[in-house]
Amino acid sequence: MRVLITAERIQERVGELAQLIGPEYRDRPLTIVGVLTGSVMFLADLVRRLDIPLRIGLIQASSYRGAATTPGALRVGADLLAEVRDRHVLLLDDILDTGQTLKQLVQHLHDQGALSVKVCVLLRKQDRQVHDVRVDFVGFEIPDEFVVGYGLDYNDEYRQLPHVAVLPRES
Ligand code: 5GP
Ligand code: MG
Repeated sequence: MRVLITAERIQERVGELAQLIGPEYRDRPLTIVGVLTGSVMFLADLVRRLDIPLRIGLIQASSYRGAATTPGALRVGADLLAEVRDRHVLLLDDILDTGQTLKQLVQHLHDQGALSVKVCVLLRKQDRQVHDVRVDFVGFEIPDEFVVGYGLDYNDEYRQLPHVAVLPRES
């Protein structure tokens, strides 16, 4: 598979994002909410670069099946999410594609009483967003290709790759 973003470049960019995010939340009660399962690598690396008090939460959302490019119905699973009432939330996901997932999750977190909800994604696909969701922090802009690695899967595989790679289209 063709490597799109090397492990070194990811780590460097995660450090830069931490430098941007840290000052925003100094002296504010912060919960970083990772979207399962794709954000787990990003979450683990980012929180270790932040030198501010924070809590970690997890939320489930799934819309994709295999490499289909149109999202199916979104399922939100919030059973694992700790109380976010009266806390500032930074919602963390692996990739922004159409925006459906993050739009619904942002609404859910507001409904749960979060003081504010900001969004951080590792990757944003160019020219794909159709749902109106404000993204506050972006790691990398990428072309419209199906990518795997660093948390991103194809049929639940390849998540463990330390880099981001392009999955070849089946011919
Ligand atoms: P959206 O709701 O923005 O259309 O889709 C976001 C979700 O779709 C991501 O959290 C991710 O699970 C999945 N997704 C979108 N594009 C890709 C991709 O290129 N590779 C992988 N592995 N997942 C993707
Ligand atoms: Mg996902």
